[in-house]
Amino acid sequence: MDPIGFEHHDHDSCIASGLAAAEDTCKDKGLQLTPVRRKALEILLSEHRAMGAYDVLARLREAGLGSQPPVAYRALDFLVSHGFAHRIELLNAYIACSHPGERHAPVFLICRGCDTVAEAPGKAATSALSAAVAETGFVPSRVLMEAEGQCPSCAAREDSA
Ligand SMILES: [Zn+2]
Ligand SMILES: [Zn+2]
Ligand SMILES: [Zn+2]
Repeated sequence: MDPIGFEHHDHDSCIASGLAAAEDTCKDKGLQLTPVRRKALEILLSEHRAMGAYDVLARLREAGLGSQPPVAYRALDFLVSHGFAHRIELLNAYIACSHPGERHAPVFLICRGCDTVAEAPGKAATSALSAAVAETGFVPSRVLMEAEGQCPSCAAREDSA
């Protein structure tokens, strides 16, 4: 699993394959990828940045697919609960998943320079954290795996400045 988002890549095919993966999964699981849900995913896929619900709502409105906040929230909830998108708690925003269909426990890498968010493999970190928590008897209701900082290109820009 590559940390897609920080490298240059064919972004058109990135959007197309994200939508195709969602369509396949919905077909397999008998889920309804309604026009609003599909458009919300396309909006998130259009950038490797986290977008707030209101940004998504504004674009849905432009597309004539609804103008009320619950419309956007319901579509985003659907995408998150079925693994097509992730919620980034630090930013109170959403990103399209880079690896839909795969089981994964990502660490989110959030660049403060360009707002890009990438997913990196977080399985080892997650199990280490779970083990540490288990020893204390603490029962976590949620665990955040998010890191803020600078992506390679923003770090390079700063070095050369
Ligand atoms: Zn892309
Ligand atoms: Zn993901
Ligand atoms: Zn950056």
